[in-house]
Amino acid sequence: MGTSPNTTPRRTAQRQTIARIITGAPGPLTVEEILAEAQADLPNLGIATVYRTVKLLLASGEIQTVVLPDGVNRYESAELGHHHHFRCRACGKVFDLDGCPVKLPANMKLPGGFVVEAHELTLFGTCPDCQ
Ligand SMILES: [Zn+2]
Ligand SMILES: [Zn+2]
Repeated sequence: MGTSPNTTPRRTAQRQTIARIITGAPGPLTVEEILAEAQADLPNLGIATVYRTVKLLLASGEIQTVVLPDGVNRYESAELGHHHHFRCRACGKVFDLDGCPVKLPANMKLPGGFVVEAHELTLFGTCPDCQ
């Protein structure tokens, strides 16, 4: 451990690169996907640094965790509004969808006395690249 490990120029470059990759991606990314992208700019980057940097970005509120039905943690910009995800069954990538395909009315009542306040939705299929 150095004296100020989070303020060295190298750490700053790592953090900026990883934040840019996550916020610029077409969908939420796994740590492995972040590593693969970041190594184009930072060939010596290791998985432990990606984990540590993701933790810092979560703590600072810049990114948020997405957990899809596969149970794998993915990360995306914390500034995205209400949206849903599409997982390609061929390549495994996850994409953000524009808009809400469900558009449930607020406080919709369901049979049995249930009042809907929110929803999460993951769609599965084939992405444009895999069709
Ligand atoms: Zn695909
Ligand atoms: Zn929705």
